[in-house]
Amino acid sequence: MKIAILAGDGIGPEVMDEAHKVLETVAGKFGHRFEYLYGLIGGEAFEAYGQHFPDKTAEICAEAEAILFGSVGGPVEKMHEAKWKNCEINSILALRKRFGFNVNLRPVKVYPGLDCVLRADIVEKGIDILCVRELGGGIYFGEHRTEGDRAWDVMEYDRETIEKVAHAAFKAAMKRGKKVSSVDKANVLDCSKLWRKVVSEVGLRYPDCELEHVLVDNMAMQVLKRPFDFDVILCPNMFGDIISDEISVFAGSLGMLPSASLNVDGFGMYEPSGGSAPDIAGRGIANPIAQILSAAMMLKYSFGLDAEHDLIVSAVEAALAEGYRTADLVPPDHTFVSTRAMGDAICHFINKLYV
Ligand code: NAD
Repeated sequence: MKIAILAGDGIGPEVMDEAHKVLETVAGKFGHRFEYLYGLIGGEAFEAYGQHFPDKTAEICAEAEAILFGSVGGPVEKMHEAKWKNCEINSILALRKRFGFNVNLRPVKVYPGLDCVLRADIVEKGIDILCVRELGGGIYFGEHRTEGDRAWDVMEYDRETIEKVAHAAFKAAMKRGKKVSSVDKANVLDCSKLWRKVVSEVGLRYPDCELEHVLVDNMAMQVLKRPFDFDVILCPNMFGDIISDEISVFAGSLGMLPSASLNVDGFGMYEPSGGSAPDIAGRGIANPIAQILSAAMMLKYSFGLDAEHDLIVSAVEAALAEGYRTADLVPPDHTFVSTRAMGDAICHFINKLYV
């Protein structure tokens, strides 16, 4: 299994080291062999090649069966420097475009014992949501035009685009809680009426999976009131952008949130939802869990290694249950473990839990 490793900038290389360690621990247990193809991306690529996403890196990604991405970008106060200017656009958006990643998966889970903004009685009921967002269409990709004091942003959807992301959502739900909540604004928008119609038709192909349609304004409220009722939330691009950010705060830290972007052929890129965190980079205190869970998602979605994915998730849960916390998971002045110690603890529990 060939994996392109693009660690990138800031905390990227630090958390990637831990994901690599976890992958090798899992490989040892299950007798797999992962081949790693290392590529430069972001600011470090700019220093070497004068480009944020060099051709060499694109070749490495094309040769691989999956991409494990760290993060890119520099400190906000240095954004004007050539090394950091448009770094994210030139690397992440270029990667998305190059490989046609049109489905974005963002799981949000609340782990017992971690601080959550929601009321304890709500959290106790268990929160484990997968947001599936259409990534390549909708209003962000329509015509944008300004004439004087008037402006237009065109939203457009077609059957094929909706079908692809709907299938991804139902397939994911069939491996989880067998429920899809599709988000739209079908009481107003024609795009949403089409969205609802096509999602309903795709849903008929998955008779064991429950489907509900929720208007986006209602979803923004319901997901706070009864998050435990949702399994897979399926969204068009813009609504998914907003709803996935809303629910991401449940997890307590950006350092806990993995993500995946897939194209129609199932080729995927896996990365933490957060950025390069220049404020803590180089200190060995970043939380590696988002990167480790991104690697776990890669095993599940790109290689079909569900048991290996589940083992990593269980090991993360065990480490947290044993009280391991990185700095982002404790109040100021509390003791915490290093990036490496958290990675070691997760490897320890992989070894312990594997039977
Ligand atoms: P950020 O996500 O890097 O950081 C926001 C806050 O979350 C910071 O306080 C940071 O310390 C914390 N944080 C993030 N990940 C963490 C982790 N794993 N462990 C502990 N704490 C963590 O966002 P920002 O500060 O707005 O942006 C910094 C740089 O990252 C910018 O250059 C931005 O363009 C880039 N960025 C990159 C990506 C990406 O590579 N996908 C995404 C978002 C931002």
